[in-house]
Amino acid sequence: MRRAQNRKPATYTCPLCGKFLPALSEHVLITPEGDSSRRRHAHTACALRAREAGRLPDRDDWLRAQRAAAPPGPLRRALRRLRGQG
Ligand SMILES: [Zn+2]
Repeated sequence: MRRAQNRKPATYTCPLCGKFLPALSEHVLITPEGDSSRRRHAHTACALRAREAGRLPDRDDWLRAQRAAAPPGPLRRALRRLRGQG
């Protein structure tokens, strides 16, 4: 059995789970430590999980990237909540 994959032009690979990430789905950008020029697209759930596990070392940079990347709306509000808890 083969998994059907919808290969649109703008499809990223989530670096946290290795699965495909359609650009139109809700996702976030993560920033490798000390290299803000190499932002990666990741599933929102994966990024939040990694953050909870402490696997996103530069949290402040990450949150800054989210603020820059997140459009107004539920995601932005969720990120604001996260910052409030930090
Ligand atoms: Zn993922």
